[in-house]
Amino acid sequence: MEQQQQYEDVFGTARIGGGDYQKAKKIETGITEARLIPPVKSQKATGRWSLYHRIHYGYYGVNRRDPTSDKLWAKPFLCIEEKDMRLQMITKACPKCEQVKDKKAALDEREAEIRKELKGRPEQDIKGTFKSDPVYDTLNKWRIQHNIDGHYYINVKYVDGSVGCMKIPSKSKKALDEQIKNLLAKKIDPFALNAGVFFKFSRQGEKINTEYSVSVSKEEVAGPGGELYERNKTAPLSGADVEQIKTKAMDLLTAHGATVLTEAQIKALVECDEDPATVDAIFDQVQKATPAEQVASSPAAKPTPKPVQTPAPTPAAKPVVKTAPAPAPTSAPAPVGEDDEEAALLKKLEETRARKAAEKAAAQAAQVAQAMKPAPKPAPAPVQVQNIDEIDPDSFIEEFGDPGSN
Ligand SMILES: [Zn+2]
Repeated sequence: MEQQQQYEDVFGTARIGGGDYQKAKKIETGITEARLIPPVKSQKATGRWSLYHRIHYGYYGVNRRDPTSDKLWAKPFLCIEEKDMRLQMITKACPKCEQVKDKKAALDEREAEIRKELKGRPEQDIKGTFKSDPVYDTLNKWRIQHNIDGHYYINVKYVDGSVGCMKIPSKSKKALDEQIKNLLAKKIDPFALNAGVFFKFSRQGEKINTEYSVSVSKEEVAGPGGELYERNKTAPLSGADVEQIKTKAMDLLTAHGATVLTEAQIKALVECDEDPATVDAIFDQVQKATPAEQVASSPAAKPTPKPVQTPAPTPAAKPVVKTAPAPAPTSAPAPVGEDDEEAALLKKLEETRARKAAEKAAAQAAQVAQAMKPAPKPAPAPVQVQNIDEIDPDSFIEEFGDPGSN
């Protein structure tokens, strides 16, 4: 190290890997074991622990590192379509989605025409004709190039102790919601800071045959007689985990990493000649703001409504705080009849915070009373924050109040 300082005019510090660049990871084939992290950063206020984003692909700009290269740079951007899932209605249209729908309709129409012409012929022949038919082939290639990639973004702590943002497909999210619902019915809070559970996210197979499932991780423990029994693998968050979450958990609003274009810019893109220079010109209109600012100023930044509706969890007894000598919270129980389990979870956290605040006030009052006493007794040593039981949700939440800090 000293040597490096001595020669600092000569050497820089080698950057290993991708530096601090963060990217949401897809679930890899096999099993990924991870626990959920409660809402952080911009979602601290909304209570959302997952956000759904759709990304449009299909456009390419000039290779900025080597403008003569024909290895063009992909220019993905965020879909701005908004839907009311209850009414199954589009409340805000996205010009790119409309174009994709039109092309898909044309492709379906061409397929129907070919099938009609070749009626009675083996499926293999029909498939062969699709490839050799220029109209069908062109539309099909366009559809593949102009892919829409939709994922739920969630922050997790992996079983190896690392923290990051994971993007999971709808099938996986649906399976996860089901598991959360089951846990809440048993009064187990998967988000509890001092307990929680690990989930096993499974991905098997390839391409259109890929299958996703989610289960609660189990571990075996020995009973008093040596008998083995199974229990949920708990996943407490330590102080070190919280420190890691501050830097490694992503702001879900911007975790998709794509450019946020306005409706007019998307329209210009849809209508353009798709020449790399033209595409760049449109993307360059996006102000050089930080991603968080871009998203914050965009109407697309509104959290997408949850397509998966799950019944309300039963108001669960809080397994979060063991320390509580304070009276039980007098606030309302978790919202029965409320059909958003994320809202219910937020409510629970709020209750815990309220109770913690009451405890703090009581502790302060006691301290004042102590100070008023004439005999200067040595004050009891303050409790060190040393284990997970002492990390209250209040301070946990306070840690994450700075959206866009990463
Ligand atoms: Zn769209």
